[in-house]
Amino acid sequence: MSKPTTPPRHTLRAEEARHAMLDALTPIRGVERVAIRAALNRVLAEAVIAPFDVPAHDNSAMDGYAVRAADLAPDAETRLEVVGTAFAGKAFSGLVGPGQAVRIMTGAVMPHGADTVVVQEEVRVEGAQVVVPPGQRAGQNLRRAGEDLAAGRPAIPAGKRIGPAELGLIASLGIAEVAVVRRLRVAFFSTGDEIASIGQPLAPGQIYDSNRYTLFGLLSQLGCELIDMGVVRDTPDAVEAAFTEAAACADVILTSGGVSVGEADFIREITGRLGEVSFWKLEIKPGRPMAFGRIGSAWLFGLPGNPVAVMVTFLEFVQDALQKLMGVAPLPELPLFEAVCRDPIQKKPGRREFVRAILEGGQVRLAGAQGSGVLRSMSEANCFIVLDEAQGAVAAGDKVMVRPFRGRL
Ligand code: AMP
Ligand code: MG
Repeated sequence: MSKPTTPPRHTLRAEEARHAMLDALTPIRGVERVAIRAALNRVLAEAVIAPFDVPAHDNSAMDGYAVRAADLAPDAETRLEVVGTAFAGKAFSGLVGPGQAVRIMTGAVMPHGADTVVVQEEVRVEGAQVVVPPGQRAGQNLRRAGEDLAAGRPAIPAGKRIGPAELGLIASLGIAEVAVVRRLRVAFFSTGDEIASIGQPLAPGQIYDSNRYTLFGLLSQLGCELIDMGVVRDTPDAVEAAFTEAAACADVILTSGGVSVGEADFIREITGRLGEVSFWKLEIKPGRPMAFGRIGSAWLFGLPGNPVAVMVTFLEFVQDALQKLMGVAPLPELPLFEAVCRDPIQKKPGRREFVRAILEGGQVRLAGAQGSGVLRSMSEANCFIVLDEAQGAVAAGDKVMVRPFRGRL
């Protein structure tokens, strides 16, 4: 990244900012081996290779009878001698000869000689014999060896975040330990002379710090290693000292507040002094100003101060940037859904707006007050209505695009 030659009031569309940011970043290095349970929510550093075929043997997909397809008359019933039983975990060790069948349970290994399973609901049992109706297909109701995974092939690619399905898959291969990317170290602090920490009495004009807590939640969900640096005063010296300390130990520095162009806003200036900075006025609402840059080997994301703007900019920009740094393989864009909006929304064309809303039964309505400091409506909402740059006002009954939070918050 080079020093910006454009003046600092650089206005970017959301997509331009996302791409500029993602293009600049490269994944961190560093791998550690962890026990399978500790791998939950971590990012796989190396592909998991199947050490054997899954399933290991041809086995029955149904409860029924293992038979030889060649024995079955195509147009008439076939009478076979039942010579034994195959259970899951307890195979039938003999051979199924001509005219013979073996009672078989779901998951049991196919006995030698048999190649087809007839489901039990379709047969008639008469003493030691079973009568199979016509119309069976050779090879039916089997799971083939290696059908799910072939030995030596990747079962899970590197770059995958390990969730419950991956844990089960790894366990099914008998693998006790996997290689994961080391945790991304994120140092974060709030700025502002008016910001008090929990436990301090509020002086007149002060408010409690909420951004460090929403960021704690968002970063924890991503599996980052957190370095909480508290609240930093609005002076150049305090911001510089915090940056220097953070850059020495973290991969990423994440701040909130102090990034506008007010007299107490030093994030941009100090980042420029210690490193390199791009300062963006984003064409989004809420969350207009944002700084992106580098101090030493640490990446800096300077988020706005308003609590909802912090969440919007984190979810829209920072989250994917951190995932890229963690080595997560790019994920498909989260889909937007169309829904009928029950409430009118005031908007002028120009910015992309994120409106806190409640989606219920294909309809969406506003979630309370939309001020960019109002976290309560963020808590009540289950989605954003995303109104694109060109969109104007929305009338009640109009269709809008909606992005649900689940999995994101
Ligand atoms: P700033 O960008 O620093 O001017 O902050 C914008 C608004 O967000 C101001 O009203 C701040 O009081 C508020 N704000 C900034 N940081 C925090 C914080 N950590 N927690 C709650 N509100 C904050
Ligand atoms: Mg401030």
